[in-house]
Amino acid sequence: MSLNVYALTCGWLTLPAALLLKGEKGSLTVPVPAYLIEHPKGRVVFDTGLHLDTQTEPDRRLGRLAQYHKVGFKPGEEVAARLKSLDVAPDKIDFIINSHLHFDHSGGNEQLPNATLLIQRREWEAGHDADLIERVYYDPHDYDHGHRVKMIDGEHDVFGDGSVVCFPTYGHTPGHQSLRVRIANEYVVLTGDACYLRRTLDSLHLPTTVYDTQQMLESLHRLRAMRDAGAMIITGHDPELWKTIPQAPNRLRYAARGAG
Ligand SMILES: [Zn+2]
Repeated sequence: MSLNVYALTCGWLTLPAALLLKGEKGSLTVPVPAYLIEHPKGRVVFDTGLHLDTQTEPDRRLGRLAQYHKVGFKPGEEVAARLKSLDVAPDKIDFIINSHLHFDHSGGNEQLPNATLLIQRREWEAGHDADLIERVYYDPHDYDHGHRVKMIDGEHDVFGDGSVVCFPTYGHTPGHQSLRVRIANEYVVLTGDACYLRRTLDSLHLPTTVYDTQQMLESLHRLRAMRDAGAMIITGHDPELWKTIPQAPNRLRYAARGAG
């Protein structure tokens, strides 16, 4: 049994490089990835990108984050449109897996109305705690849309066959998770923001803002171990790596040492 996995680019963000790599000068323009995973037992979208409002009024939508993020997001790039271009109806998605609840990972949840949300319990709870909403920069307008929510504590095998497995990579946010998928007997890891760039993994160069530095380093070591065991690592926002990733309608393929 093999999966079909499709990489979807749901817009771009231009932001100070220091946000991704502490102390770095200049700015970076980075992709906002989402993924469709087709399994015989269901369709999954891993991360949903930006809210549609950011196409027309990004400053209002992003609020205090707007000063750091310039949004490049055109009609047709939102997750629902990307799915439709693959002949997949957005209301037929069974599961949303959010790596975490930041605006560029959960903003498209509203476009997938019938999905069950799979999220680490501690992330969901953090996203509903007034103090953490403020400190960790969540916006409940991105994710509070009445989805069924299945809260996960630690690792979770979505279909029970080891092909799609959520695993905790806390640190970027309180309950961040990454996803391991098996494509033709090889492992591909979608890190989300547990690891922004290949450089993050290679040199453990952390971002400016981290919720828990110790946990983030532990997560990076876990990702490194997976890479060393042969997994292809697709980091969260690496523009150079992203150029090498086949985009839908092509299927994602395993490539050894995908993270360098
Ligand atoms: Zn992000």
